[in-house]
Amino acid sequence: MTKKHGKHQGAADGQKDSAKASQGAAGTGEPLAGSAPALVGGHIPIVPRPAPGIVMVEPGETVSLAAIDASTDGGFEKEAARELLKAERTRIQALQERLYAEHKRSLLVVFQAIDTGGKDGTIRSVFEGVNPQGCRVWSFKVPSTAELDQDFLWRYHLRTPGRGMIGIFNRSHYEDVLVVRVKDLAPEPVWRERYGLINDFERLLTASGTTVLKFFLHISKDEQKERLEARIAEPEKHWKFDPADLVERKSWGAYQKAFEDALSRCSTPYAPWLVVPANRKWYRNLVVARTIADTLEAMAPQFPEAKEGIEGLKVED
Ligand code: AMP
Ligand code: MG
Repeated sequence: MTKKHGKHQGAADGQKDSAKASQGAAGTGEPLAGSAPALVGGHIPIVPRPAPGIVMVEPGETVSLAAIDASTDGGFEKEAARELLKAERTRIQALQERLYAEHKRSLLVVFQAIDTGGKDGTIRSVFEGVNPQGCRVWSFKVPSTAELDQDFLWRYHLRTPGRGMIGIFNRSHYEDVLVVRVKDLAPEPVWRERYGLINDFERLLTASGTTVLKFFLHISKDEQKERLEARIAEPEKHWKFDPADLVERKSWGAYQKAFEDALSRCSTPYAPWLVVPANRKWYRNLVVARTIADTLEAMAPQFPEAKEGIEGLKVED
């Protein structure tokens, strides 16, 4: 871990880091003088409160994934972490109810990772027990021909969460600068322009009251090997195994480079990337859950005022 990354690691003082990231001219990555958070479209962006061990990428910073230890456990113990995770789920459930009742803002949680990186497992674990009515998960696959007829952001924008909702993207608009770049699915000038377009898109969402939380689940190449081997060896995991993953693995280096560029170019004051050391699933689940709970808490959703004259009303037989 480089010194620079160490500086931005979430810790008990994650709040301090967030305050720092919230300064800055929206969209420019330039720090603003003073300590007031920059407004985005009249909204004060809620910046994530990263849990211990998570690396929040500061706008303008160049990320080196090799410098971030994917096996970190943030100082937690495995058994204790399971109990802590239950408490974080309870917090998310209670805050989600308030967000839904308030019906003013929304939360978009984006997950990106290499194959076997743990996107599905994290979503299953962290959102267990959340009221399905206030929460929608979207998994993005290879675009259909109809989707390819539109601009690249169209299919994602159609699925951003409305007021009161939590939206979860399992893969996202970032695929269009990741797999598209690695597999040469679009010419370089086309995907290069997308970093800026993505920043503008996320700025639009933020300005409209959506808090954008972006998690990159960071695993090591050795860990991927073990997970692929488990999918081959264990019959109940066969359904998860895609032989294409072995081909994609040959492009490991190109994917890491593409991830690094996406993390470096698309960390903005209003939507910074969070790099989660994800070799240890129990640790990953805990810190993602805690970050979501702390961020929802910072949004401070409120139940709406009771309708006038409600007190003492009698319900007739
Ligand atoms: P999985 O998430 O394992 O079900 O696989 C979904 C596949 O869809 C992955 O191989 C992704 O790289 C691919 N995919 C997702 N979005 C895009 C996109 N915009 N362009 C091309 N391939 C994509
Ligand atoms: Mg897959």
